[in-house]
Amino acid sequence: MNYKINEVFRTIQGEAKFTGTPCVFIRLQGCGVGCAWCDTKHTWETNDNDRVFDIIAKESDGDSWASMSIQDILDYCNDSGVSHVVLTGGEPFEQDIEPLIEALYRNHFQVQIETSGTVPFDSSPNAWVTVSPKYNMAGGKEVLESCLINADEIKFPVGKDIDVERAAEIQKWFIGDVWLQPLSQSKKATKLCLEACYKHGFNLSIQTHKYIGVR
Ligand code: SF4
Repeated sequence: MNYKINEVFRTIQGEAKFTGTPCVFIRLQGCGVGCAWCDTKHTWETNDNDRVFDIIAKESDGDSWASMSIQDILDYCNDSGVSHVVLTGGEPFEQDIEPLIEALYRNHFQVQIETSGTVPFDSSPNAWVTVSPKYNMAGGKEVLESCLINADEIKFPVGKDIDVERAAEIQKWFIGDVWLQPLSQSKKATKLCLEACYKHGFNLSIQTHKYIGVR
């Protein structure tokens, strides 16, 4: 099985529960959600032919992507020296990633998936799923209740009061951790998140990788 991959690279997870964990990021191509503030807009389109290139050597953002097999991905992860693998995007569930999850799990990797929650998925003991809910975005896709229920943690991008209000509604019933993450390291959004964390008991996620200058 092959996947459309925008980039693979070794880094430090900078968000939510696994902050500080050395990992491989596998960024899958394709997302129809259309967030205005998306910082990976180069992953949205998949309607081009394979633009095959040396994806391992890719060092900056760009819309080029390549087809990688499960074995290609396993080889990269095995060579990386780390044991945590993050499947991100784009929207990773727009591709059939179950076989990839299973292969990584069987090869003793801890698998984390970062998803918008707009594509249904089954809860799996073999992967930690971080759902980052999206509402009223240009692509017309909304976060699904089933995705919230199946999430291991929820990470809210926060720019306005309405984002905190939505997070507070979900926190009333969600049994895992709910994280607030300021949009684009904005000072105003960070202040809003801090106040909400003190008031409601959310956790704060601050994209630490951006503060230390890594992808
Ligand atoms: Fe970008 Fe993620 Fe929104 Fe897709 S869901 S548009 S990748 S921020």
